[in-house]
Amino acid sequence: MVESKREVLSSSEVVDPYVTALTQFDVAADHLGLNESMRQYLRNNQRELVVHLPLRMDDGSIEVFWACRVQHNWSRGPCKGGIRYHPDANLDEVRALAMWMSWKCSVANIPYGGGKGGIKVNHKKLSRHEAEGLARRYAVAISPVIGPDVDVPAPDVGTDAQTMAWIADAYSATQGRWTPAVITGKPISLGGTVGRDAATGSGIMYVVQEAARRRGLSPSSTTVAIQGFGNAGQWSARLLAGKGFQVVAVSDTSGGIHNGQGLDIEAAIAQKNNSGRVTDYPKADRITNEELLTLPVDILVPAAFENQITAANAPAVKAKIIAEAANGPTTPEADRMLNDSGVIIIPDILASAGGVVVSYFEWVQNRSGMYWDEKEVSNRLEQVMTRAFQEVAAVSEREKLTMREAALILGIRRVVEATELRGMRP
Ligand code: NAD
Repeated sequence: MVESKREVLSSSEVVDPYVTALTQFDVAADHLGLNESMRQYLRNNQRELVVHLPLRMDDGSIEVFWACRVQHNWSRGPCKGGIRYHPDANLDEVRALAMWMSWKCSVANIPYGGGKGGIKVNHKKLSRHEAEGLARRYAVAISPVIGPDVDVPAPDVGTDAQTMAWIADAYSATQGRWTPAVITGKPISLGGTVGRDAATGSGIMYVVQEAARRRGLSPSSTTVAIQGFGNAGQWSARLLAGKGFQVVAVSDTSGGIHNGQGLDIEAAIAQKNNSGRVTDYPKADRITNEELLTLPVDILVPAAFENQITAANAPAVKAKIIAEAANGPTTPEADRMLNDSGVIIIPDILASAGGVVVSYFEWVQNRSGMYWDEKEVSNRLEQVMTRAFQEVAAVSEREKLTMREAALILGIRRVVEATELRGMRP
């Protein structure tokens, strides 16, 4: 369900996500009064493994793919974070995503550190046979640094449950035993959990409901636009519409669709699954991705990639609430502008935590051998997301901070505490 091509912003607006992550960290570190050694420790990743994967293609040729696994911090537990397949994957992007995972797991208060992986590949051009070969190669190459107690990968853009199944199998072969807890997002028949598909969208739904309630917005008169129509975007749309919100616009790389009366989300998802382009959905006006971001809606959910809301388009954003399903969709400059104009931004490290929380539930189930039903998963997820939202909101109110600053401070504070308790010695 992933598009291979990212919409590219003009070069003056592109911000290296790692620069964004470090800028955010520095602001929070100043607020927390962290000393220089702690700053240095947390600004860097604990481990970065870069590998080059030779793969025999179907035509007999060999291609070599760049790939990496980055572990930002494991003070609070094993590293956790997805594996992204994208032609533009690069070390700085993965470093940023790994750092954000540390803060995200900490904000959700689940016992993990942060990690992330990437392979520079246009996965849409791979045959199934080649995709399997690449996933297995990658699993074996990173096997020395992953494991149920070390680092537990998961899906991200370009990877899915099948990819996780191949990685779990190849890793298990290196250990001589079936080790499902090495990775989450697996198919249910291989120890995956019910509710993982919907998890990120569910998390978005819970935080949007909470923010709308605090802002006095009732769902039936609240309009929503969603950028990106993959796992996070589709489930956010479906679940918000299910709670009565008016989802009036969605988009993918083919562009956007808009209907002021509300879209039929199930029909839009069916259309996307059929033709691969949400813009083939007939009962709506075509809009560009840029227009979607600046529609006169109450709530905007960026659910595609980094760097979508920038200094260039932030002044035109009309939403009152932005719930970041994507990681790093707002540049620091745009963040400042939107805060100044009173927009509430529910930051990625809080809003999109649903996926990793349910991944944690999957890992717990794999390790205990006890499996939960859908109700148990969704009740527990609601509890974790609502508590995280309330904790971040409390810090924001008490310390007069934006939700992003509050989430970073809460997340970083817990990592610092764990690091200090463990000590920085071997
Ligand atoms: P996905 O590959 O399933 O979907 C991505 C979607 O974004 C596709 O529909 C694609 O067409 C669209 N897209 C790409 N560039 C676009 C652009 N410029 N404008 C509009 N649409 C564009 O990926 P996903 O898993 O839904 O992840 C999306 C984002 O959410 C990523 O930032 C990811 O890191 C983040 N996220 C995902 C999860 C998860 O559980 N899937 C969890 C947390 C965060």
